[in-house]
Amino acid sequence: MAKETKEGITVSKEKDFSEWYTQVVTKSDLADYSPVSGCMIFKPYAYAIWEKIVATVDKKIKKMGVQNAYFPLLIPEKLLNKEKEHVEGFSPEVAWVTHTGKSKLEERLAIRPTSETIMYEAYARWIRSWRDLPLRLNQFNSVIRWEFKNPVLFLRTREFLWNEGHTAFATKKEAEKECTDILNTYYDVLKDLLALHSVKGKKTEKEKFAGAEYTISTELFMPHGRAIQGPDAHHDGQNFAKAFGIEFLDEKEKKQHVWQNTWAISTRVIGILIAAHGDDKGLVLPPNIAPNQIVIVPIIFKKEGEKVLKKAKELVKQLKEHNVILDDRDYSPGWKYNEWELKGVPLRIEIGPNDLKKKQVIIVRRDTGKKEIVKENKVKEVVHKLLEDMQKNLYKQSEKIFTSKKTKAATMSALQKVIKQKKFAEVHWCGETTCEETIKDKTEGAKILNIPFEQPKKVSNCVCCKKQGKHQVIVAKSY
Ligand SMILES: [Zn+2]
Repeated sequence: MAKETKEGITVSKEKDFSEWYTQVVTKSDLADYSPVSGCMIFKPYAYAIWEKIVATVDKKIKKMGVQNAYFPLLIPEKLLNKEKEHVEGFSPEVAWVTHTGKSKLEERLAIRPTSETIMYEAYARWIRSWRDLPLRLNQFNSVIRWEFKNPVLFLRTREFLWNEGHTAFATKKEAEKECTDILNTYYDVLKDLLALHSVKGKKTEKEKFAGAEYTISTELFMPHGRAIQGPDAHHDGQNFAKAFGIEFLDEKEKKQHVWQNTWAISTRVIGILIAAHGDDKGLVLPPNIAPNQIVIVPIIFKKEGEKVLKKAKELVKQLKEHNVILDDRDYSPGWKYNEWELKGVPLRIEIGPNDLKKKQVIIVRRDTGKKEIVKENKVKEVVHKLLEDMQKNLYKQSEKIFTSKKTKAATMSALQKVIKQKKFAEVHWCGETTCEETIKDKTEGAKILNIPFEQPKKVSNCVCCKKQGKHQVIVAKSY
């Protein structure tokens, strides 16, 4: 048997979060760097997680009536320039194709930073009458936005994977209803699949999507006191419809512009998942997103080895629905325990000659580390209960990160103090962009995340200008 121990995580999450994060991502075999700075390799373990997110979102949106399609990666410059705010918002980050071989292209082509423009050129041709509506298309693809900040695997990369839904309706009411439904769908994916707590709300004018009438978002909170925006949905009003000429004849034969939404969830949520749940031993995966929910480690000694292995194989069959890994490799049990803990597998089942005699196994939970001796005939039942419990427990912990660090601040100096302490400040705000900018300046870059849908009955004075406030908002440093 190999005696070496696998090298685990060498720093604590609390003391050095960014080093911890990098080690967890690379050592747990999720991802790797690539020769292009800011572009990352999704290894099979991470891609399996993404596939689960895709499958869940896909199922939910199809049920709502959305269809999948695929539009080209390259966008002609004149199309990208059609909607003014949109192009201004994206132009610093757009990567261009300018040549083929040695010859220069007549018109340069943008690599999609998002697909509104390439899709709406087609929508303008396809939509003629109210009978063509709603048109609700989605694509799962990747986009490129040339970030200039330091790249962080999953959280800030130049290329990322996502879904982008682009829909067109005859009325504003229908479009706005979809926008809310989609945000609720994303909220449920975060909660039920990834065990992540988030706050739903409306983005400020300053922070909304370029070209949208408004943006609604989920905001998530990380243990080291930073916030990060999760999936979002934009109601575009008729902005793009007017820029692209997407018109239809209504039932009274009157020409109208369509009402539109766009919405997305990206691979960024995998980074949030890692950051929120991981601990000093490595990844902790909520059972519902874990590619494998159980690993069985048989303790094999020469004499009883075959019997133990036979029993372990029986268990694999019995627990098939949990996508079990049987680790019968030639390493010491301790080495294997470390490896699977590092990879965040929710449950570990140990079985040795002694357990065999007693007709029992040992089950260890990844989130609490708690060990339980379980009779063979109860394994299935106990496994179910433990997985369910672990999913709930991780959600509660994620909620606690937020509630335990959320602190009210009534004055600018109190706000500055809360941000310095790496907490999330709950403040009242007048709604003016000038105050929003002042808040950012005076807190070394902390910002208003969104205006939560849940508001208190009474709002006090603005933390900045002292005039009557309009909203209660959360201010935090964010990714
Ligand atoms: Zn103010």
